[in-house]
Amino acid sequence: MKNSDFRMIKIRELQVYAFHGVYEEETAKGQNFFINADICLDSKRTDVLSDDLDATVNYAEACEFMSDYMKQNTCKLIERAAELLCREMLLKYPLITKITIELRKPEAPIGLPFESVSVVRSLSWHTAILSIGSNMGDKHEFLDRALSKLDDKPHTRLICESERFVTKPYGGVEQDDFVNSAVIIETMLSPYELLDFLHVIEKSEGRERLIHWGPRTLDLDIVFYDDLVMSESNLTIPHIDMQNRYFVLKPMSKIAGYYRHPLLGKTVSELLRELEEKESDES
Ligand code: ADP
Ligand code: MG
Repeated sequence: MKNSDFRMIKIRELQVYAFHGVYEEETAKGQNFFINADICLDSKRTDVLSDDLDATVNYAEACEFMSDYMKQNTCKLIERAAELLCREMLLKYPLITKITIELRKPEAPIGLPFESVSVVRSLSWHTAILSIGSNMGDKHEFLDRALSKLDDKPHTRLICESERFVTKPYGGVEQDDFVNSAVIIETMLSPYELLDFLHVIEKSEGRERLIHWGPRTLDLDIVFYDDLVMSESNLTIPHIDMQNRYFVLKPMSKIAGYYRHPLLGKTVSELLRELEEKESDES
């Protein structure tokens, strides 16, 4: 079970005098904010019985970091301040897998009696597996550049790439062979944000959508995103056709053969074996 084995540090009502707000008076004069943080730590990567401060997040240091960040930056909206705080904490402390921050503003300018107003934001690292391919121009160069762009922003980090395979085009359009690989990334982007990010990278590498399944400088597809199952008009995860695509399964089997398809219940290696058997029966 994914969530049954975790360790959480809870920080309650950390008081910070800061300058966030829409009104001039708020940014000039400042007011008190209170931070409640639930910090989930990766228990797989640490010895849970350790008595060593390096095996955890030092809560005193984390409080100081959040307090300084709140004081040194000014946002109009506490929504944005909470978002930035979550991101900064995930980047600062690699042991944090998930953080939930409530930012409370009890002195907010509301002309009615009230106790408090707050926003809550939760952000975590997700593991995604992408299939990447190119069949135009210098194909390896396109893949190389895609990898460096995937790793270029703080919100996403490249964990590894499989070896690359030359594969035949899929879908019946007459075109050049592809070079394909699979990559594992960790990202704090949501599935739709990740799809947008991939489209931006494709576009920056000259990708044009002219013919469906036609030639492309770069194709970046989301195959898995944690164990997520979603099916919407422009995003299906796991990738809807991955089990029928040798060029997806073969590279992926090299780095994530153990990964179990959340709907089909089979690992990537099993799906590859089945596809190879099916294809050898047909030929
Ligand atoms: P394909 O990758 O199938 O050759 P495209 O790259 O042109 O085709 O993608 C077409 C559309 O497929 C994208 O604009 C995107 O909205 C949609 N799509 C649905 N699910 C996924 C997914 N898991 N990964 C990437 N794109 C997807
Ligand atoms: Mg695609």
